[in-house]
Amino acid sequence: MKFYDKDKVENWDHAIEEAAQVIREGGLVAFPTETVYGLGADAQNAQAVQKIYAAKGRPADNPLIVHIADKEDLTHIAKDIADWVFFLTEKYWPGPLSVVLNRQDNFGSAVSAGLSTVAVRMPDNQTALALIKKSGKYIAAPSANLSGRPSPTKAKHVVADMGQRIDVILAQDNVRVGIESTVIDARGSYPIILRTGGITQEMLINDVGKATLAAQTVEVPLAPGMKYGHYQPRAKVMIVAGAFDKKIEKIKRFLKKEPMTGQPTMATGQIPSFRKPMSCEKGCKVILCEEVEKKEIGTALANRMEKAAVKCYL
Ligand code: AMP
Ligand code: MG
Repeated sequence: MKFYDKDKVENWDHAIEEAAQVIREGGLVAFPTETVYGLGADAQNAQAVQKIYAAKGRPADNPLIVHIADKEDLTHIAKDIADWVFFLTEKYWPGPLSVVLNRQDNFGSAVSAGLSTVAVRMPDNQTALALIKKSGKYIAAPSANLSGRPSPTKAKHVVADMGQRIDVILAQDNVRVGIESTVIDARGSYPIILRTGGITQEMLINDVGKATLAAQTVEVPLAPGMKYGHYQPRAKVMIVAGAFDKKIEKIKRFLKKEPMTGQPTMATGQIPSFRKPMSCEKGCKVILCEEVEKKEIGTALANRMEKAAVKCYL
């Protein structure tokens, strides 16, 4: 594994060029995007794509998002694209919106995990865009974490989780969004949100007039990834729900019961910290998360929290 840190290497362009060469040769490169770090490979090289699944331990039925550096490339990968889809890609690309469309006949199916569709997005990060351009390929990239674990927003998290399975890591810790892209089914006459993210349902309704949330059930795995356990840190995550006073009471009771020396309460809102929060890397055992309101970006945060907590409420 080669690790290039943008703040430390003399020539960042050379590092990106070397990583682009690795992509061309069918290897794996971890790179920053505005959402989370991606684990990239040549989307049209089936063996390279297979390496992503092996490195992550990702279930074979969970397809990958193809990353492009030029909006126009969407039409080379997908077909039957409605005007409202172009409206959204014009507005939000580069940015955290992935569109699921019918796959072009001559675009390799390796990224699609057996589906006739393909997910595409253009990331909003100069390093990611330069890597894609220099490689001359489209880059398939899920988040650069072992399957089921939280998506990394820092290069050191990529290294800790799966460093030895990657050929090159391009480190530049400037992720802006910090939560995975919104994934929409864009085949119909309005967006169906398969995975919530930074582009919210409210925004899409405002743009297109209508946008619905897909039922994320095991029976209807529209975005196959959503049926799996996900976003789980090693510490136990508990969601603190209820009215404000109730939440405070619950936390106080919990802290009394648990001899949580040095362990944190992570409050997202107005709840004061009862103890100094401690980094999970330092071995905290429990993370208490304050419930967030399911509106706007809160819908996406609540989704990740519920998966991390495996429905465990305080
Ligand atoms: P990841 O890149 O690991 O953060 O996850 C990508 C998400 O997009 C997963 O939930 C996938 O199941 C979903 N996805 C990718 N491609 C498709 C597709 N063709 N159809 C439906 N969902 C998709
Ligand atoms: Mg992921």
